[in-house]
Amino acid sequence: MLFADAVYKDYLEFRKNYPKDPYIIWVHDYHLMLLPQMIRNKINDSNLRLMFFLHIPFPHPVIWENIAASRELLEGLLHCDIIGFHIFEYQKHFMNACLRELNVEINEFVINAKSISGIEVKTISCPIGINPTRFIQTSRDDEIKIARRNLRIRYQNKTIVLGVDRLDYMKGVYQKLKGIERFTEKYKEMKNEIVFIQLAIPSRQNVPSYQKLKNSVHQLVSEINGKSIKTPIIEHWDQSLDFKQLVTVYSASDICLITSVRDGMNLVAFEYVASQNQHHGLLLLSEFAGAERSLAHGVVSFNPWNPDEIADALNEALKMSKEEKEAKHKWAFNHVTKHTADNWANILISELVDSGY
Ligand code: UDP
Repeated sequence: MLFADAVYKDYLEFRKNYPKDPYIIWVHDYHLMLLPQMIRNKINDSNLRLMFFLHIPFPHPVIWENIAASRELLEGLLHCDIIGFHIFEYQKHFMNACLRELNVEINEFVINAKSISGIEVKTISCPIGINPTRFIQTSRDDEIKIARRNLRIRYQNKTIVLGVDRLDYMKGVYQKLKGIERFTEKYKEMKNEIVFIQLAIPSRQNVPSYQKLKNSVHQLVSEINGKSIKTPIIEHWDQSLDFKQLVTVYSASDICLITSVRDGMNLVAFEYVASQNQHHGLLLLSEFAGAERSLAHGVVSFNPWNPDEIADALNEALKMSKEEKEAKHKWAFNHVTKHTADNWANILISELVDSGY
């Protein structure tokens, strides 16, 4: 309601200056699924354009139906002109949930929600991107070049495998460690040539289940490192980095390992690709991250629930020829530099502006 009140106040101001122009509101993410309906109830204006974008996956309808308020949430969203998703799978799940729970008609990707909100609602899949220029330029700074060299010296020019994740269940950090453990058992001969740097960005630290996750991650890191005779194989950093430090680790590492068990998109994947000025840094990416669909031929993908698949992906990466790594990087880099955050926003805003005419 607080959001709806704030929008209404802004709308009244806007109308004073622009009596006839479309009034555009873009609502972001799952926390605000009921907001579109609240806004429509407050603002009765045929020139109101409402868009919603979901930044997380939309689950399969069978799972969605377990939410007590599933119908209300769908109805809340169906007050938008446009509803956007990162990939077609999430869009399809949403449309199927509407079919099953609300019995609405769907033609192509347009939902006839006239009985609910009096309008037709267009659904779209449009994957988000990043602002790659910032990462590309920073990775070329002299200051970063020196920091990168120092980092590589610190790790004795071993192959650096990087992980950058919020410490959240969805990021599969525990599953990643299980995969690393498997790698050290299955490919013993290679374990002294490699170091894993895992940046675990603190998240929801006052929630007990997140504290539990942190403890089990720490314990597993100690167990794996304890088995190593020489230097520890995993460097676990429980902290955030500033932008320059982040670009330094992105650009200094040889491999980036992302093991999300569910992830709407995963921007770290794009940021790693943009920062890689060695041109052959390789991305190993879970098949359950939305980014895997976008980066397709530019990555090595695997199922993060299977430690063997993670271990084998690491082995494949270590054995891959420079040419193949370069070809994969080129593919991914083309995607990241073409499908930017600006393009994403422009496409969706144009769709919204056109939707009323
Ligand atoms: N990031 C950060 N602090 C750090 C390391 C990374 O803020 O120390 C940023 C990173 O640059 C990225 C974001 O956190 O933009 C993570 O986005 P992603 O989509 O990968 O995951 P999310 O946490 O949004 O689920």
